[in-house]
Amino acid sequence: MEIERQALPEGAVSGFGVAADPETVEQLQEYRGNDVPWTWPLLMRDRGGIDDTVVKVRSAGVAGSITIDPHEWNTIATVDRPTALTDSEGAGTLFDPGIQSWGLTRIKDLGIDAILTPSLLADRLDALSAVVEVVQEARWPVVPFIALDITLLDQVDAVRAALRPLRALTPKPGLALAVVGPFDGLAAHGRVAGLRSVLADHPGAWLVYVDPLVATDALSLGAAAAFVGAKSSWRRPPRPSASGGGPHAAGFIPGLFHRELLEMRSPAIYEDWYADLPTPVCPDCNTAVDSYTSDDEDKLAVVEHNLHAIDEFVRELNDREYPERAAWLRRSRADALAAHLSLTSGGEPIDADVILRRLCELDDPQQRRTTTSGAWL
Ligand SMILES: [Zn+2]
Repeated sequence: MEIERQALPEGAVSGFGVAADPETVEQLQEYRGNDVPWTWPLLMRDRGGIDDTVVKVRSAGVAGSITIDPHEWNTIATVDRPTALTDSEGAGTLFDPGIQSWGLTRIKDLGIDAILTPSLLADRLDALSAVVEVVQEARWPVVPFIALDITLLDQVDAVRAALRPLRALTPKPGLALAVVGPFDGLAAHGRVAGLRSVLADHPGAWLVYVDPLVATDALSLGAAAAFVGAKSSWRRPPRPSASGGGPHAAGFIPGLFHRELLEMRSPAIYEDWYADLPTPVCPDCNTAVDSYTSDDEDKLAVVEHNLHAIDEFVRELNDREYPERAAWLRRSRADALAAHLSLTSGGEPIDADVILRRLCELDDPQQRRTTTSGAWL
């Protein structure tokens, strides 16, 4: 399939972005040293007090672009109330300014670069269509935002039809997409393929709150930017009713991006996997993947490593033209999956990341499946 590079308006984010809460950004900047500017494009949620927040992260050294997510998607959308601009009776707010005017005012007031529309979470097709009807009026730097319940990917043709009005929007991005659901929700049959087909319809889109696997896959398919979460629940965001994000971080150390395996496991897990083997070392941090503790300082070191290592991974990908990008990524993933097979835990094969397995299975010309350890069936 031919993918065209989409022209982006001046200042629009492309490539790797970071989705993080302001506390993480401030702590990380302190850890990095405040003379090291933060140049990664940043996506932050508005959880109240956002005006002060933007000022604070700017003074902490955030020098790149800032996009705000109004974070209204902790509420479920209905046909009558698709966005937070509609009151609970389904009427416009008292001073209903229209979504574009609302967004531009917020951008100016906050001194930010872009804002996502205040869309509610779409977990039904009729509500999704209602959200689209409102957000299609938005144009950069107000970005039409769809928070899609992951189960809707099971009806992907209907989802693609509902999103059709956003396809022709210019300038790009005419869509920022988040997929919301259980930690391994994307692993269910057909959902990764479904997400790919949605992204293929919307070249130049943003994918937000994702992990490096899903981010790089999107960027190889024509997405303009992918915002990777700085913490687990921002990489695979749960539904508002669900508690917590992923499985508990082993040893209370956050997941560390391990480029060779394309995993984000706790360093305590790597310690087990490499018990009898030389442990891989990140050349930039000069730190072995299993040598972090649960100290606050080490937790920040993990996040810092993740951001620079994922950024580097994305750059290597984006330095290539589209057909080559996908081929290079396929090879990287196949190598990473194969690398799992030489590792053991207590004499047993280890479990490979299930999304990595799904991506490799989709890419396999023979359409083979994999075992939990990542061997081909
Ligand atoms: Zn590193």
